[in-house]
Amino acid sequence: MKKHETLQKSTADLKRMFEEFHIRPIEELVNRLPKSKLIDFKIIIAHRDFDLLLNEYLEGNKFSIVSGRGPSGPIHFGHLLVFRVVKFLQDAFGANVYIPLSDDEKLVFGKIKSLKDAEFWALDNARVILALGFDKNRTKVYISSKQRWVYKYALEIARKLTLSTVKNALGVDDSSNPGIPFYAAVQIAHILQPTLDTGERVIVPIGLDQDVYMRLARDVAERMKIKKPASLYIRFLLGLNGQPMSSSVPDTAIFVNDSEEEIWRKIMKAVTGGQPTIEEQRLKGGNPSGCMVFEWLKVFVFNSEKEAEEYAQLCKNGDLLCGFDCKPMLARAFIKMAKEITTKAEKINLEDFLWEA
Ligand code: SF4
Repeated sequence: MKKHETLQKSTADLKRMFEEFHIRPIEELVNRLPKSKLIDFKIIIAHRDFDLLLNEYLEGNKFSIVSGRGPSGPIHFGHLLVFRVVKFLQDAFGANVYIPLSDDEKLVFGKIKSLKDAEFWALDNARVILALGFDKNRTKVYISSKQRWVYKYALEIARKLTLSTVKNALGVDDSSNPGIPFYAAVQIAHILQPTLDTGERVIVPIGLDQDVYMRLARDVAERMKIKKPASLYIRFLLGLNGQPMSSSVPDTAIFVNDSEEEIWRKIMKAVTGGQPTIEEQRLKGGNPSGCMVFEWLKVFVFNSEKEAEEYAQLCKNGDLLCGFDCKPMLARAFIKMAKEITTKAEKINLEDFLWEA
């Protein structure tokens, strides 16, 4: 599949999901939110019940944010996008943040050999996420298997589900180990815990591909007679090669612990919308709308729509060369970001955030 087809497919999928699952475009709420690049550049694309949550907030009700990470390896900048959204919400609304590190998920899905292996990555990933600048008085990070309440809540939640519902929702078949359908109850426990403990409504920023867990969590919340969780949907960002970004295909993403050489190498191989030769590029210009380098500059580097529009025009005019101008610019920006975040991560005192209960 060509890169343009991939982009179009994700747009069509998105429209279908909006209609089928009552997801609303974020544009409807732009006037009720602080100005942010995350909205201007459509990194946050949609929501379910965020309007309801904002109404409750205006009436004096606080809310919580739940956003987890499955720790089985280093974090890449695509993973961090969702936590930038979490940070935006915490800064804007003073919300409490819960970050479950789902070592149990990685174990039952066979991504790690033991919970001990996951602990290393859980602590590593937590430091990197927290380096974005979360408020230590309003942020709790926890390793799922170490929390006693997770099992207790998961048992209560499992009683509100049926095996066939979980199997249908997650595509689980009889060859799966039984931990996989049970993990649905664990995931829902993470989502509903703040509401069960404090009564606060929860909002979960996620990718559209994870919405199945939100729909299950909302059904369970209804049966438990507690507030249903809201959600914010983060745009699907393609990898440097124009295919989905994936930890298992390392060249699709930039990891925070990539060396300078790796960052240069990956970005210099990135898919662009440029012409085959310098002469043609100067004559015909490039196509920024099909260019992963431009896409990543927008998401990670540019600060305003105006800046992005001006840059796109330079590309179309033939004033930029992919390998001489844009790729080095993106590589230098990532080298700087990786250095900054790893330096901050080393200074994080996890004890300020780690929750064991
Ligand atoms: Fe993309 Fe830059 Fe090449 Fe234009 S000149 S196609 S923006 S890499």
